[in-house]
Amino acid sequence: NVRKAGGDHIVSLSNETHKAINRRSMIEKRLLLALDQRNLKVLYQPQVDLQSGKITGVEALVRWEDEKIGVVSPDELIPIAEETGLIHHIGSFVIEKASRQAVEWQSKGLNLKVSINLSVREFRDKNMAKSILSTLAKVGCPANIIQIEITEKFALEAEAETSIIKQMRQLEDQGITFVLDDFGTGYASFRYMQLLPIEVLKIDKTFIRSLMQSEKTQRLINGMVHFGNSMNLTVLAEGVETEEQKELLKSYGCDAIQGYLVSKAVSEDEISELVKK
Ligand code: C2E
Ligand code: MG
Ligand code: MG
Ligand code: MG
Repeated sequence: NVRKAGGDHIVSLSNETHKAINRRSMIEKRLLLALDQRNLKVLYQPQVDLQSGKITGVEALVRWEDEKIGVVSPDELIPIAEETGLIHHIGSFVIEKASRQAVEWQSKGLNLKVSINLSVREFRDKNMAKSILSTLAKVGCPANIIQIEITEKFALEAEAETSIIKQMRQLEDQGITFVLDDFGTGYASFRYMQLLPIEVLKIDKTFIRSLMQSEKTQRLINGMVHFGNSMNLTVLAEGVETEEQKELLKSYGCDAIQGYLVSKAVSEDEISELVKK
């Protein structure tokens, strides 16, 4: 036992490390089981068009509560899943679940676009585009109501890997649109704006958080919105929590918002309720 071995300081450090390693391997093991038993959930967060004030889309967000470890947040789950390769299974689970849901909403007359987060690791699989399209075909989901959210890190790597760009174009040809998520936080390069078929810019919530406090942030966000508009992109702001933020964003010409002001991520039934209101 490490506890008996050395001085207090060293003991507590290695103890922490020990705990972290245990938690990680526990997460890996339980995640495998959860995927097998389809014990993950998908919740949906509404996106509101600022012109009409209507909910026009939702973002699918994975949720996992394990009976042994409790809630594991996506911020902890996704990086582990990416490293272990289990992200492929999470991806197929979310794609199938969300596209089935998209079809169900359509059949109820709810016209909602459904956004799904995918990581670059998933697109390293040369059959990714094919498998997405075959899932959509299987569940009868029109491709043009599905959006795929990628991050700047994804964009950076896709730039260097022609097979990823090829797959993106293949999906775009079928009507899927791409969203650049967390815009402004990564290795922003304008080159991938030319290379990649992106149609929506999603301004990261860290900018929105300081929107009311900093004039510099206001100019920055105003600039991002104008940049997006001039590139003919739809500009969406995430993490919008207050009416003041919403009004300011609207005055800049921002197209849509997502955030706790409208709703956190909720179940499919709650989305139907929110849309009707
Ligand atoms: P993201 O794609 O940028 O998603 C937005 C995150 O911000 C979500 O956290 C959402 O719950 C949170 N959020 C929404 N509105 C507000 C707000 O008004 N204020 C604040 N402070 N936060 C807000 P969540 O669900 O914990 O997901 C975290 C990240 O994990 C996501 O960031 C995404 O990158 C990743 N993720 C989630 N689900 C999936 C998935 O199915 N697949 C993959 N590959 N990644 C996922
Ligand atoms: Mg996202
Ligand atoms: Mg984001
Ligand atoms: Mg616009």
